[in-house]
Amino acid sequence: MWLQIKILLMLSNVQKDTCPVPQKLVKCANAEYDLVVIGGGSGGLAAAKEATALGAKVAVLDYVTPTPIGTKWGLGGTCVNVGCIPKKLMHQAALLGEAIHDAKTYGWELEPENIHHSWESLKDAVQGHIKSVNWVTRVELRDKKVEYINGQGKFVDPHTIHTQTKQGERTLTAKYFLIAVGGRPRYPDIPGAVEYGITSDDIFSLPKPPGKTLIVGAGYIGLECAGFLRGLGYEATVLIRSIPLRGFDQQMANLIVAEMEDKGVKFEHRCIPKSVEKADDGRLKVVWQNEHSEEFSDIFDTVLFAIGRRALTKELDIDKSGVKVAPDNEKIDAENEQTNVPHIFAVGDVLYKKPELTPVAIHAGRLLARRLFGGSTIHMDYDNVATTVFTPLEYGVVGLSEETAIERFGEDNIEVYHAYYKPTEFFIPQKSIVHCYLKVVAMREGDQKVLGMHFIGPQAGEVIQGFSAAMKCKLTIKCMMDTVGIHPTIAEELTRIKITRRSGLDPSPQACCS
Ligand code: FAD
Ligand code: NDP
Repeated sequence: MWLQIKILLMLSNVQKDTCPVPQKLVKCANAEYDLVVIGGGSGGLAAAKEATALGAKVAVLDYVTPTPIGTKWGLGGTCVNVGCIPKKLMHQAALLGEAIHDAKTYGWELEPENIHHSWESLKDAVQGHIKSVNWVTRVELRDKKVEYINGQGKFVDPHTIHTQTKQGERTLTAKYFLIAVGGRPRYPDIPGAVEYGITSDDIFSLPKPPGKTLIVGAGYIGLECAGFLRGLGYEATVLIRSIPLRGFDQQMANLIVAEMEDKGVKFEHRCIPKSVEKADDGRLKVVWQNEHSEEFSDIFDTVLFAIGRRALTKELDIDKSGVKVAPDNEKIDAENEQTNVPHIFAVGDVLYKKPELTPVAIHAGRLLARRLFGGSTIHMDYDNVATTVFTPLEYGVVGLSEETAIERFGEDNIEVYHAYYKPTEFFIPQKSIVHCYLKVVAMREGDQKVLGMHFIGPQAGEVIQGFSAAMKCKLTIKCMMDTVGIHPTIAEELTRIKITRRSGLDPSPQACCS
């Protein structure tokens, strides 16, 4: 009995004096804060608010370094300011342009040829919305008693962060630190890239219309930007270095490219940029090269680089914290968001080999705060996270690509169900349905556990979001076939699957109501 009491006493002393690994909230003897979060974006803010709600004393540092052309923004991180939100609004603007043309066929007496789009009005509306979100975020932090510090955090040592604010210098100590600094777009190492090029950090607030635009990179950002720019009426050309949407199911990725080509986006396959320079007329001359080293050039108004993002760990003087970064990039390889330094954690885009998505950063941040201050033991599950590429015809996906499923389980052990379909909304405007396609990858045996769901069509994000919850509940093909659809919707098509690729049967659209 005495021994047990002694051990308990010793443990409680350790907690007080050295502030060790996660536990329920125990105030740290010497540190000023329970948690200091570096980065006020999706992940950092979610963790900070949750931690404060659980009684922790929390400070969040957020600072935005302006882009080479001087673009800067307010509190809230990438998603709100230069990511998901402005992107979705511009995607919506482009879809509305299409809808105006459709509307005429539905009896609206419009003259689409006389309808023009104003980039300035769209940009002002988007920026106005962003400013209001920045403001609401600040008020929310104040109400929730999270201290917001508008300064760039840099580690001085593993227990101390230094920052310079407009009000003066600050040094902060904390029991735990959370690195949530996210990333910023990369520029290629070619002449003129930084001087004349822009990135997604600039496009949503560009003061003048982008005009004829070259987009370098065919990942999420490249394709989404090319999609909405074309939809708004600008010429758009995409340079693809190798394959489109690396990591995604390639059959679906190629359908997306084909659909965008039908909408007028040009693609230059297997090409990399060589240089950007000012042409005589003040526009931009870009030289690029194909895989056979043949050179091409053209003149553009805007050159947008969308070649991936780098984590902002170097700027954080991370070496002084003792946190190790992955050798092949500057990201943090953390296990359950805990770095190699036990009291320093990381969430969001700064993490190595984790999906760079807002809901991922938010969920991981919240769960971490609950583990640190709420006694929770629940960890983030990074598998089967649904996502959508917001191209003109969207591509929503959850789970494995066909390639990965084959690699993991062997071709003989998986079944691929697929179908082309015809959205009811497309009938009257007689819109092309050749790319409205869905695919479900499943195990072949038994009830056929679903491994991956892929959907190209309008509102694909909305469709896949619901099915992703079903996937969490171990969805099977039997279950999908037993589900009664909602008619007439496009999501219903996923309950009507019956044709396997192996059968060789024609997956063309089924009759409307049979
Ligand atoms: P961020 O949101 O980037 O926040 C990090 C913050 O920390 C920033 O404000 C940064 O300035 C600040 N900071 C950095 N270093 C310091 C420092 N030393 N001191 C103080 N502050 C610092 N995801 C989706 O889920 N859906 C989408 O549709 C989507 N669209 C996107 C479109 C674009 C164009 C881009 C670029 C991204 C998109 N994303 C989307 C990804 C999403 O924005 C990110 O996954 C998400 O913002 C990551 O959150 P985070 O908290 O890790 O970092
Ligand atoms: P990605 O990594 O998705 O794509 C980068 C693209 O640039 C690839 O096509 C790549 O080609 C190409 N590339 C890389 N280096 C060069 C180079 N030197 N020259 C030419 N091309 C090059 O990055 P993104 O910037 O598009 O997106 C970053 C992340 O942001 C995404 O992973 C995603 O998680 C998130 N995001 C999410 C969105 C959503 O949810 N809808 C939307 C936008 C972003 P290669 O394949 O050959 O390497």
